[in-house]
Amino acid sequence: MSLSTSAPAQAAVVDRAPAISIRGLRKTYGDVVAVDHVDLDIADGEFFSMLGPSGSGKTTVLRLIAGFEQATAGSVTLGGVDVTRAAPFERDVHTVFQDYALFPHMSVLDNVGYGLRVRGMKKAERRERAQQALDTVRLGHLGARRPAQLSGGQRQRVALARAIVLQPRVLLLDEPLGALDLKLREQMQVELKQLQRELGITFVFVTHDQEEALTLSDRIAVFDAGSIQQLGTPREIYENPTSAYVAGFVGTTNLFDAATSQRLLGVAAEHAVRPERLRLSPGTDTEPARPDEVRLDAVVVETIYLGTGNRVHLRTSDGVELVALEQSTGSLDTREHRGDDVTVRFARADVVPLTSGS
Ligand code: ADP
Ligand code: MG
Repeated sequence: MSLSTSAPAQAAVVDRAPAISIRGLRKTYGDVVAVDHVDLDIADGEFFSMLGPSGSGKTTVLRLIAGFEQATAGSVTLGGVDVTRAAPFERDVHTVFQDYALFPHMSVLDNVGYGLRVRGMKKAERRERAQQALDTVRLGHLGARRPAQLSGGQRQRVALARAIVLQPRVLLLDEPLGALDLKLREQMQVELKQLQRELGITFVFVTHDQEEALTLSDRIAVFDAGSIQQLGTPREIYENPTSAYVAGFVGTTNLFDAATSQRLLGVAAEHAVRPERLRLSPGTDTEPARPDEVRLDAVVVETIYLGTGNRVHLRTSDGVELVALEQSTGSLDTREHRGDDVTVRFARADVVPLTSGS
């Protein structure tokens, strides 16, 4: 019964309060600083991702939101209510773990209804609600099976159904698609996004996969070593990375250090330009650079066929390594070969200054 007390209390506060508000969050384990200086507001109904390499503190932040860990410093507020010291069951959130944590001896339907049973709901209503949740994830016909009789993707959906049946205000997902193969993962990404839109629940999604974060999220926090490096929409993160770290972690990029930038752009500060912004033309053309573009002579070091196009590795006449991405145009052979001379052009507007250093 204590389970249901927190939800009405939170809902009663302020509708406009962010679903999750984090201030000055810090978590240490002995000498290890797992999370530090994390400030974050996540809006109601937002699909929010935490993206970063292994060990960057994503899971720890999720566990601090869920209440499985106690913060060393800072606060966590859910729907306007400070829950920093509250127990997990007092928080209106639910976690979907990477390993799904299903009960092997229970049927799929009973697995989904388990949380309702713990809350003391009567059997008939429980089964009805569990069946609805299974229908939502398109597994309505498999309720009688055991988890072992399902595929990986189906087990993933059961774990989701088990979370949404409790109608939490916030769903925390820790690399939920990590165990699935690529094809299934892409399918589940679409389903997750649709589900989140349908239910209107706030999703906090942890992943180390930059493409997944870019595809799914309303906003992304890029983590490094326990802190947020950059926070923004997928487009902002991709088009305007503020540090070499973010530019390099989210997609591939051409990084120019201060000295190279001085030579190429006339500005002595770090810059980046995405490979797809580079235009290549065969040979050394004699046309001078326009004022709004950078023009470089280069040699092809390697061309890698990607199916959808080519990735071309280049070296400029003064030794700068570049990567260009060419979309396949369907024409016969636009491929540059190793050792070919090419002219590289890119718009100055496509070059991003990296403001926060690295
Ligand atoms: P991520 O989820 O981004 O891979 P984690 O949040 O799991 O990262 O871990 C962040 C850091 O905290 C890592 O250095 C990790 O080794 C450390 N860490 C996490 N949990 C514990 C723990 N229970 N005890 C000691 N160190 C931990
Ligand atoms: Mg983790």
